[in-house]
Amino acid sequence: MSGCIYLTDLDDTLFRSLVKHPDPVGLTRVTTATNGHHGHMNAAQRGLFAALRSTGHVIPVTARSSDAFARVHLDFGTGRAVLANGAVVRDETGRPDSDWSDHTGRIGRRFDPLFGEMSALIRAEFGEAARSWVVAEEGAPVYFCVKMNAAEELAVREGITAARDLLSGRLDLSGMWAHLNGNNLSFTPIGISKRDACLHLIERLGDRGGAPLIGLGDSLTDLSFMGLCDFMMIPSRSQIATRILQPGCDG
Ligand SMILES: [Mg+2]
Repeated sequence: MSGCIYLTDLDDTLFRSLVKHPDPVGLTRVTTATNGHHGHMNAAQRGLFAALRSTGHVIPVTARSSDAFARVHLDFGTGRAVLANGAVVRDETGRPDSDWSDHTGRIGRRFDPLFGEMSALIRAEFGEAARSWVVAEEGAPVYFCVKMNAAEELAVREGITAARDLLSGRLDLSGMWAHLNGNNLSFTPIGISKRDACLHLIERLGDRGGAPLIGLGDSLTDLSFMGLCDFMMIPSRSQIATRILQPGCDG
Protein backbone atom coordinates (compact mmCIF):
# COMPACT_ATOMS: atom_id res chain seq x y z
CA MET A 1 0.00 0.00 0.00
CA SER A 2 1.30 3.43 -0.86
CA GLY A 3 0.53 6.69 0.88
CA CYS A 4 -1.32 6.92 4.18
CA ILE A 5 -4.31 5.01 5.48
CA TYR A 6 -6.85 7.37 6.98
CA LEU A 7 -9.45 5.96 9.35
CA THR A 8 -11.89 8.84 9.60
CA ASP A 9 -15.05 9.66 11.47
CA LEU A 10 -17.60 11.53 9.32
CA ASP A 11 -20.11 13.77 11.14
CA ASP A 12 -18.50 16.80 12.78
CA THR A 13 -15.12 15.69 11.40
CA LEU A 14 -15.35 15.82 7.57
CA PHE A 15 -18.63 17.74 7.52
CA ARG A 16 -21.26 19.10 9.87
CA SER A 17 -24.86 20.27 9.71
CA LEU A 18 -25.61 23.81 8.58
CA VAL A 19 -26.39 25.13 12.07
CA LYS A 20 -22.99 24.00 13.37
CA HIS A 21 -21.05 25.99 10.77
CA PRO A 22 -20.07 29.39 12.17
CA ASP A 23 -20.12 30.90 8.66
CA PRO A 24 -22.89 29.75 6.27
CA VAL A 25 -21.10 31.14 3.19
CA GLY A 26 -19.42 28.82 0.67
CA LEU A 27 -20.76 25.55 1.99
CA THR A 28 -21.30 22.42 -0.08
CA ARG A 29 -24.04 19.96 0.86
CA VAL A 30 -22.66 16.42 1.07
CA THR A 31 -25.36 14.38 2.81
CA THR A 32 -29.12 14.01 2.77
CA ALA A 33 -30.65 13.89 6.23
CA THR A 34 -34.17 12.61 6.78
CA ASN A 35 -34.73 15.38 9.37
CA GLY A 36 -33.50 18.14 7.05
CA HIS A 37 -30.21 18.71 8.92
CA HIS A 38 -28.03 17.86 5.92
CA GLY A 39 -24.26 17.70 6.31
CA HIS A 40 -22.20 20.47 4.73
CA MET A 41 -18.50 20.98 4.07
CA ASN A 42 -16.78 24.34 4.24
CA ALA A 43 -13.71 25.19 2.19
CA ALA A 44 -11.29 23.83 4.80
CA GLN A 45 -13.18 20.54 5.05
CA ARG A 46 -13.36 20.20 1.25
CA GLY A 47 -9.63 20.89 1.08
CA LEU A 48 -8.89 18.35 3.78
CA PHE A 49 -10.97 15.65 2.10
CA ALA A 50 -9.29 16.30 -1.26
CA ALA A 51 -5.87 16.12 0.43
CA LEU A 52 -6.72 12.86 2.18
CA ARG A 53 -7.99 11.32 -1.05
CA SER A 54 -4.89 12.32 -3.00
CA THR A 55 -2.41 11.11 -0.40
CA GLY A 56 -3.81 7.75 0.60
CA HIS A 57 -6.73 5.47 1.34
CA VAL A 58 -9.73 7.00 3.13
CA ILE A 59 -11.79 4.58 5.20
CA PRO A 60 -14.92 5.98 6.93
CA VAL A 61 -15.43 4.96 10.58
CA THR A 62 -18.86 6.16 11.62
CA ALA A 63 -21.83 5.69 13.94
CA ARG A 64 -24.02 6.00 10.84
CA SER A 65 -26.07 2.91 10.05
CA SER A 66 -25.84 1.39 6.56
CA ASP A 67 -28.98 3.37 5.65
CA ALA A 68 -27.60 6.68 6.92
CA PHE A 69 -24.24 6.01 5.28
CA ALA A 70 -26.01 5.58 1.93
CA ARG A 71 -27.09 9.22 2.29
CA VAL A 72 -23.47 10.46 2.40
CA HIS A 73 -22.64 11.72 -1.09
CA LEU A 74 -18.85 11.56 -0.97
CA ASP A 75 -16.62 9.33 -3.09
CA PHE A 76 -14.24 7.60 -0.70
CA GLY A 77 -12.61 5.61 -3.48
CA THR A 78 -13.13 2.32 -1.64
CA GLY A 79 -15.97 0.17 -0.39
CA ARG A 80 -14.16 -0.30 2.92
CA ALA A 81 -15.99 1.22 5.87
CA VAL A 82 -16.76 0.74 9.54
CA LEU A 83 -20.45 1.53 10.11
CA ALA A 84 -23.01 1.57 12.93
CA ASN A 85 -20.45 2.22 15.68
CA GLY A 86 -18.47 -0.82 14.57
CA ALA A 87 -21.34 -3.29 14.11
CA VAL A 88 -20.53 -3.50 10.38
CA VAL A 89 -17.16 -3.80 8.65
CA ARG A 90 -17.29 -3.58 4.84
CA ASP A 91 -14.58 -4.93 2.56
CA GLU A 92 -13.06 -3.15 -0.44
CA THR A 93 -16.01 -4.20 -2.61
CA GLY A 94 -18.47 -2.66 -0.13
CA ARG A 95 -19.77 -6.02 1.10
CA PRO A 96 -20.30 -6.47 4.86
CA ASP A 97 -17.88 -8.93 6.47
CA SER A 98 -20.46 -11.58 7.40
CA ASP A 99 -18.36 -13.16 10.16
CA TRP A 100 -18.11 -9.76 11.82
CA SER A 101 -21.83 -9.00 11.38
CA ASP A 102 -22.71 -12.42 12.88
CA HIS A 103 -20.43 -11.66 15.82
CA THR A 104 -21.84 -8.17 16.54
CA GLY A 105 -25.42 -9.30 15.83
CA ARG A 106 -25.10 -12.01 18.50
CA ILE A 107 -23.90 -9.41 21.00
CA GLY A 108 -26.66 -6.93 20.06
CA ARG A 109 -29.49 -9.47 20.32
CA ARG A 110 -28.65 -10.12 23.97
CA PHE A 111 -29.49 -6.46 24.64
CA ASP A 112 -32.85 -6.42 22.86
CA PRO A 113 -34.97 -6.61 26.07
CA LEU A 114 -32.90 -3.85 27.67
CA PHE A 115 -33.22 -1.64 24.57
CA GLY A 116 -37.01 -2.08 24.91
CA GLU A 117 -36.92 -0.95 28.55
CA MET A 118 -34.77 2.05 27.60
CA SER A 119 -37.22 3.11 24.86
CA ALA A 120 -40.18 2.77 27.23
CA LEU A 121 -38.46 4.83 29.90
CA ILE A 122 -37.57 7.67 27.52
CA ARG A 123 -41.13 7.69 26.14
CA ALA A 124 -42.66 7.72 29.64
CA GLU A 125 -40.41 10.44 31.08
CA PHE A 126 -39.80 12.71 28.09
CA GLY A 127 -42.88 12.23 25.89
CA GLU A 128 -42.68 14.58 22.91
CA ALA A 129 -39.52 16.28 24.21
CA ALA A 130 -37.26 13.45 23.02
CA ARG A 131 -37.06 10.68 20.47
CA SER A 132 -35.23 7.39 20.74
CA TRP A 133 -34.62 4.44 18.45
CA VAL A 134 -32.59 1.29 18.10
CA VAL A 135 -30.13 1.06 15.22
CA ALA A 136 -30.37 -2.35 13.55
CA GLU A 137 -28.05 -3.99 11.05
CA GLU A 138 -28.84 -7.22 9.19
CA GLY A 139 -31.94 -7.61 11.36
CA ALA A 140 -30.03 -7.41 14.66
CA PRO A 141 -30.28 -4.50 17.13
CA VAL A 142 -26.83 -3.01 17.64
CA TYR A 143 -27.18 0.23 19.58
CA PHE A 144 -29.64 2.63 21.20
CA CYS A 145 -29.91 6.39 20.48
CA VAL A 146 -31.64 9.36 22.07
CA LYS A 147 -32.04 12.91 20.76
CA MET A 148 -33.88 15.90 22.16
CA ASN A 149 -36.48 17.63 20.00
CA ALA A 150 -35.73 21.12 21.40
CA ALA A 151 -33.95 23.60 19.12
CA GLU A 152 -32.24 25.73 21.80
CA GLU A 153 -28.75 24.60 22.79
CA LEU A 154 -29.29 24.92 26.54
CA ALA A 155 -32.55 22.92 26.46
CA VAL A 156 -30.81 20.21 24.41
CA ARG A 157 -27.87 20.07 26.79
CA GLU A 158 -30.03 19.86 29.90
CA GLY A 159 -32.43 17.36 28.36
CA ILE A 160 -29.82 15.02 26.93
CA THR A 161 -27.86 14.99 30.21
CA ALA A 162 -31.08 14.26 32.12
CA ALA A 163 -31.85 11.40 29.70
CA ARG A 164 -28.41 9.88 30.27
CA ASP A 165 -28.77 10.17 34.04
CA LEU A 166 -32.30 8.76 33.96
CA LEU A 167 -31.31 5.71 31.92
CA SER A 168 -28.15 4.93 33.86
CA GLY A 169 -29.86 5.64 37.20
CA ARG A 170 -32.88 3.38 36.64
CA LEU A 171 -31.41 0.55 34.58
CA ASP A 172 -28.29 -1.58 34.75
CA LEU A 173 -26.34 -0.35 31.72
CA SER A 174 -22.99 -1.71 32.88
CA GLY A 175 -22.75 -3.93 29.77
CA MET A 176 -22.76 -0.91 27.50
CA TRP A 177 -20.61 2.12 26.79
CA ALA A 178 -22.19 5.56 26.55
CA HIS A 179 -21.48 8.33 24.06
CA LEU A 180 -22.68 11.89 24.65
CA ASN A 181 -21.74 14.73 22.32
CA GLY A 182 -24.11 17.61 21.51
CA ASN A 183 -27.57 16.21 20.79
CA ASN A 184 -26.27 12.66 20.39
CA LEU A 185 -26.67 10.17 23.22
CA SER A 186 -26.09 6.52 22.52
CA PHE A 187 -25.52 3.29 24.39
CA THR A 188 -23.69 0.50 22.59
CA PRO A 189 -23.06 -3.03 23.93
CA ILE A 190 -19.48 -3.63 24.99
CA GLY A 191 -17.87 -5.66 22.20
CA ILE A 192 -19.43 -3.45 19.51
CA SER A 193 -17.26 -0.39 19.00
CA LYS A 194 -15.35 1.53 16.40
CA ARG A 195 -12.18 0.36 18.13
CA ASP A 196 -13.04 -3.36 17.99
CA ALA A 197 -14.12 -3.02 14.36
CA CYS A 198 -10.96 -1.07 13.42
CA LEU A 199 -8.80 -3.75 15.03
CA HIS A 200 -10.57 -6.30 12.83
CA LEU A 201 -10.27 -4.07 9.75
CA ILE A 202 -6.55 -3.42 10.32
CA GLU A 203 -5.98 -7.16 10.63
CA ARG A 204 -7.84 -7.66 7.33
CA LEU A 205 -5.70 -4.99 5.63
CA GLY A 206 -2.71 -7.27 6.20
CA ASP A 207 0.78 -6.03 5.36
CA ARG A 208 0.55 -2.28 4.94
CA GLY A 209 4.09 -1.96 3.63
CA GLY A 210 4.91 0.74 6.15
CA ALA A 211 1.92 2.94 5.23
CA PRO A 212 1.16 5.06 8.31
CA LEU A 213 -2.27 4.82 9.89
CA ILE A 214 -3.85 8.18 10.68
CA GLY A 215 -7.02 8.44 12.78
CA LEU A 216 -9.41 11.39 12.46
CA GLY A 217 -12.31 12.14 14.80
CA ASP A 218 -14.08 14.81 16.84
CA SER A 219 -15.67 12.97 19.78
CA LEU A 220 -14.01 11.76 22.94
CA THR A 221 -15.31 8.27 22.14
CA ASP A 222 -13.44 8.39 18.79
CA LEU A 223 -10.16 8.45 20.70
CA SER A 224 -10.41 4.71 21.33
CA PHE A 225 -10.07 3.88 17.62
CA MET A 226 -7.77 6.83 16.87
CA GLY A 227 -5.42 5.44 19.51
CA LEU A 228 -4.83 2.38 17.30
CA CYS A 229 -3.28 4.64 14.67
CA ASP A 230 0.24 6.09 14.34
CA PHE A 231 -1.07 9.67 14.29
CA MET A 232 -4.30 11.45 15.19
CA MET A 233 -5.97 14.46 13.58
CA ILE A 234 -8.77 16.40 15.24
CA PRO A 235 -10.93 19.36 14.17
CA SER A 236 -10.15 22.43 16.28
CA ARG A 237 -13.86 22.99 16.97
CA SER A 238 -14.59 19.59 18.47
CA GLN A 239 -15.34 17.83 21.73
CA ILE A 240 -11.77 16.47 21.88
CA ALA A 241 -10.17 19.87 21.19
CA THR A 242 -12.44 21.58 23.73
CA ARG A 243 -11.36 19.08 26.37
CA ILE A 244 -7.65 19.45 25.54
CA LEU A 245 -7.77 23.25 25.32
CA GLN A 246 -9.76 23.89 28.51
CA PRO A 247 -8.18 26.42 30.90
CA GLY A 248 -5.30 24.99 32.84
CA CYS A 249 -4.16 22.68 30.03
CA ASP A 250 -1.71 25.10 28.48
CA GLY A 251 1.40 24.03 30.34
MG1 LIG B 1 -18.24 12.68 14.80
